[in-house]
Parts: sequence; structure tokens; C-alpha cells
Amino acid sequence: MSHFETDAIRSQTERSQFLEHSTPLYLTSSFVFEDAEDMRASFSEEKQRNIYSRFTNPNTTEFVEKICKMEGAEAGYAFATGMSAVFSTFAALLNAGDHIVSARSIFGSTHGLFTKFLPKWNIETSYFNVNAMDSVEDLIQPNTKILYAESPTNPAVDILDLERLGQIAKKDNLLLIIDNCFATPYLQNPIKFGADLVIHSATKLIDGQGRVLGGVTVGKADLIREIYLFSRNTGPALSPFNAWVLSKSLETLAVRVDKHCENALKVAEFLESHLKINLVKYPFLKSHPQYEIAKKQMKLGGNVVAFEIKGGVEAGRQFLNKIKLCSLSANLGDTRTIVTHPASTTHAKLLEKDRLEVGISGGLVRISVGLEHVQDIIADLNQALE
Ligand SMILES: *Cc1c(COP(=O)(O)O)cnc(C)c1O
Repeated sequence: MSHFETDAIRSQTERSQFLEHSTPLYLTSSFVFEDAEDMRASFSEEKQRNIYSRFTNPNTTEFVEKICKMEGAEAGYAFATGMSAVFSTFAALLNAGDHIVSARSIFGSTHGLFTKFLPKWNIETSYFNVNAMDSVEDLIQPNTKILYAESPTNPAVDILDLERLGQIAKKDNLLLIIDNCFATPYLQNPIKFGADLVIHSATKLIDGQGRVLGGVTVGKADLIREIYLFSRNTGPALSPFNAWVLSKSLETLAVRVDKHCENALKVAEFLESHLKINLVKYPFLKSHPQYEIAKKQMKLGGNVVAFEIKGGVEAGRQFLNKIKLCSLSANLGDTRTIVTHPASTTHAKLLEKDRLEVGISGGLVRISVGLEHVQDIIADLNQALE
């Protein structure tokens, strides 16, 4: 069996008559058939081949197959964005009247899907707090179908015990779906702990250079079949160009993420020693409340560090205004370090009580640590804290 890095670089599914070394870009909306019989067999799925790029395309297939290998998944499907992966997965698998049990700390738009749109189809969601895993089973109803979580969480960088979620899902016959975006397939493989499906926003560390959007869902083949049929009919497919970019990005995922994590740990250690900071959350710091669980399920700690500046919302805003090198941006997982202040931006609409319940205090700052020299990143944070 070859290693992660080798598979990422060497699994190429298509090569044309020109025998190119790097995978070509298949910018075509459709594919041609030899004759009427070829066309019939292709449409009836007796033959597995590309028909139309809304269904499959060689570039999207290569990207999906690489992610499947990395996650240990049977099958997958690639989407235009992380959110179209999330939406299509839920829309394909749920019926009106079904129920979801989800962690409370989830990506903002996923929360929006659960609260504003799925209720239109009479699909309700109950939430558990990261620190109250004992309550998960109390939330399960006869119509509960999906158990959903992210780990590490955004933006508070909490860790959920995937093995425990896997056991609960198995015992209660639920589908366990994990958004593995913050960890990447390099650091954590939820299928090993019992997940049925794993979702990624490829926009983040998978692209890693802030260029394209993309998403992917991988896991059990029978579930992916449903998701594929839904997507084939509704059209959220990843573009061949973005798939080509993302496939290339996967070749460097391991080296990039190793360096991201090394920088992030150094940034976290610097912040932990700073007098103006109350609290630092980074999965591989011994002070992290779920440090042992993080060590068990992750290879390294990831690139996101959360910390709390003394002085609340105003201190958080002032800190952002003094930042010079790092970017103030809504993205994460870029080569460029990005700093955000959730209480005044992404989570500003929440009531303070609800905000605190998901671990976002007024002074909480989230850093997506990039690949600049770590001394320059630390120097920028240091001067902004003065
Ligand atoms: C960004 C993100 C998404 C959504 O991905 P897009 O590509 O922006 O649609 C979903 N989940 C998590 C955890 C994310 O960080």
C-alpha cells in the first residue's frame, strides 16, 4: 500500500493520446457516442462513462477518487461549493418529517440551512453542546435519521469525540455525517470512527491558496448513489476547471498542511504566553480541554487558533484595526494568514447568550495561520496586541 503523499500525487485517472504528464483540463459540457447502441448502454448505465459534465467529467472524477482514497471512502461526488455539498447531501437523504441531531457549533450557513430552509419540508433539528455529549442520546427521536457534527469546530476550535459519535450513531441506527473541513483528509479520517459520510468544503485547505470554491461528499456507496442521482437532476456539480485546480492542490496537501500546523502551534504557544490574552484554544496545546481526544483522532492540530483578548468586543475590534501583515477576510485555510473577529462579524446577529453557548466571547479572535514565515506572523500579532 502506498502512502498518502504518493497517492495524492500519483493517482491520475485520465491520460489522452498525447501522454501528457500532468492531467489535462477537460473543458467540455458533453461527450460523444460511437453509435446508437453506445448511447443507449451509456444512458441505461450498463456502461460507466462520461455523458454530460453535470453528471460526471474526467476532472471531477479524478478529484473525487483522490479524496475517496484519502478518506478511506467507497465513493463520492464533487460539488461547486462546500454548501452545495452540505445541502445536496441532506436533500438527497432526508424525507419530509425526518429529524436531525446536530452539534450546536456548526458552520454559519449550515446552521442557516437547518433553521431557515429544512423546516419548510418539516425537517427539524435538535442541538447538543460540545461540552455536553451526554445529552446527545436524550435528543434522539423515533424520526431521527442523521447525527451531524464538525470537528474542530468553527470558530471556537472545540473538539468532538468522533469515536463516541460513531458509537451513538451505530447503537441508534443513525447516519453519522461529519464536516471534516477544518481537519482535511490528511489530519483526520472520520470514517475510521464510524462516520457514514464525510463532507469537505474544498475551498479551504484543499485549495489552500484562496482561488476556487468547491465541495465534496464521500462515504458509503449506496448513500453516494442517492446523492449522485439528486445532484444529476438538480445541477450543483463542480466545474471541470475548479476540479482540475483542486486535484493539483491535493498533490501538495500534506506538505502544506504540515507547515500550516507547525506555524499554528508556534502562534498558539506565543499567544498563550502573552499577558493580554485570557485563553488560547488550539487542539494540540496541552491546555485545550479536549487535548486527549484531539491527539487520538487527529494527526496534527490544524491551522486554526482561537484566542480571547482581555477587554471584550471593543478590544477585539481594536486588535483587528492594528493588524498590518495578516488579512482581514472571511476565508480560511489560505497560504495567507487571516484574522477574524466573530462577535462583530459572522456571529454578530446572535443574542449574546446564544453566542456564548457556542464558545464565542466578545474578545474571541480566530486566526487561520498561513504559510508566511512564522516570525513575521507572530511579529504582526505582537505589535497589534501592544
Ligand atoms: C467554508 C465552510 C463550509 C462551506 O463551504 P463553501 O465552499 O464556502 O460553500 C462548510 N463547512 C465548513 C466547516 C466551512 O468552513
